[in-house]
Amino acid sequence: MFRPASRIASLPSPATIAMAARARELKAEGKPVISLALGQPDFASPEEALEGAIEEVRDGHTGYPPLAGQKTLLEAVAYKFRRDNALDVPLSRLMVANGGKQIIFNAFMASIEAGDEVIVPAPYWVSYPLIVQMFGGCPVEVSCLEENNFRLKAEDLAKAITPRTRWLVLNFPNNPTGAIMERADLEALAEVLRKAPHVMIMSDEIYEHLTFSGKKHVSLAQIAPDLADRILIVNGVSKAYAMTGWRVGFACGPEALIKAMVKVQGNISSGICTLAQGGARAVLSGPMEGVEAMKRVYEERRDRVVGFLRNIPGVSCAMPQGAFYAFPGFTALIGKKTPSGRMLDNDVDLAEALLEEQHLATVPGSSFGKGSHLRLSFAASDEELAEACRRLERFVLGCS
Ligand code: GLU
Repeated sequence: MFRPASRIASLPSPATIAMAARARELKAEGKPVISLALGQPDFASPEEALEGAIEEVRDGHTGYPPLAGQKTLLEAVAYKFRRDNALDVPLSRLMVANGGKQIIFNAFMASIEAGDEVIVPAPYWVSYPLIVQMFGGCPVEVSCLEENNFRLKAEDLAKAITPRTRWLVLNFPNNPTGAIMERADLEALAEVLRKAPHVMIMSDEIYEHLTFSGKKHVSLAQIAPDLADRILIVNGVSKAYAMTGWRVGFACGPEALIKAMVKVQGNISSGICTLAQGGARAVLSGPMEGVEAMKRVYEERRDRVVGFLRNIPGVSCAMPQGAFYAFPGFTALIGKKTPSGRMLDNDVDLAEALLEEQHLATVPGSSFGKGSHLRLSFAASDEELAEACRRLERFVLGCS
C-alpha cells in the first residue's frame, strides 16, 4: 500500500489551491458558485503572448531548452529589470522557472539545511512556510500589524534574526493584504540586514506593477545595492500580464545561488516549455499599456469592493495599496451562528459556511497567518463581485 513520505504526510495543500478546487467541484455539480478564492486575473492573456508562443514553434524551438531559460527570454528579463527597477544585471544572474512558485522552491531547495530558520512576515502567502517545511526548515513568523498598514517594521525584523536565520522573505505588494513598503521602510530594513550578513533576502515582487492610488513599487535591491549579493528577486508574468497558466516565473540573484537553483531545476524539469518562454519574452519586451489598463480596472474594483465591505456592520477592511485582494476582518462574527445555525468558531468555519450556505468561495485568513479574516480576490468580473458582496452581506446580517 502507498505510504506518503513523512515530509509530505503532514504537509497541507495550499489553502488557495484547495479552496479553488472545492469551488470548481461544486460548480461542476451545478451549484451557482462564485469563486474569489484564487488570485487569478480574469483577463485574457495579451495577443503578443500568443504570437510569441507561435513564433517559437514556427522557428522550430521545440527541443529541450537551456536549463536557465532561452537567451532571448533572459535578455527580455534583463531589459525588464533595467526598465522597472534600474538594475543592470548580466544574464548569469537570471533564470526562469515554471512560475514564481518554482523559483521559490528551487531557491529553498538549493539553500535550506534542516533546522534553518526563515523569517516570514505575516500575513504571508500560504506557500512560503509550506515550502520551507518541505526542506526541514523552520518558518519564523513576524507579525505585520494592521495599525502599521501591514508593513514590516525594522525593529520587529531585528528581534527575529538569530544565528540560524537563513532567509528573510519579503513580499510587497503583499498577498493577501495588498500592503506595500515605502522607501523609508526599506531603508530601515536594509540597516538591520547590513548587521546580519548571514541572512539572505528573498523579495517576491510578483505584484510590482499592481499598485494603486499613484503609489509605485520600490525594490529593496534599488535601495540597497550593497546587498545585491544577498538578494533574490522573484517575479513572473502571471499576475501583471494575466498569464497564470503559462507558468513562467523569473529571478535575479547572486550568481552562485542562481547556479545552484539551475542545478535543482535540471533535476526537476529540464527547463521550461519553449512556447511559454516565447510568450513571456514577447510581453516582457513589449509595451506596458495593457498592464496599465488592467491595473486601472483592478483599482476601480478595489474601491467598490472595499467600500461595500466597510459598509457591512461588523466587517472591517484595510485599503489594499496593491495586488488584487481584499482582506477583511470578521472578528465580530466569531462566536456567532450562521443563518442555518452553524457555529462560527473561527475563520475556517466562516469560509466553509460561506461556501456551503452562500456558494461564495474565499480563503480563510489563518492560512495566511492571520485568523478572523478572509481573503477575497477582486480579479473577477464586476457582476461576480457585486453578487459576491450581496451574498456576503446577506450572510453577515443573518448571523446571530
Ligand atoms: N498566488 C495565487 C494565490 O495566492 C495563486 C494560487 C497559488 O499558487 O497559491 O491565489
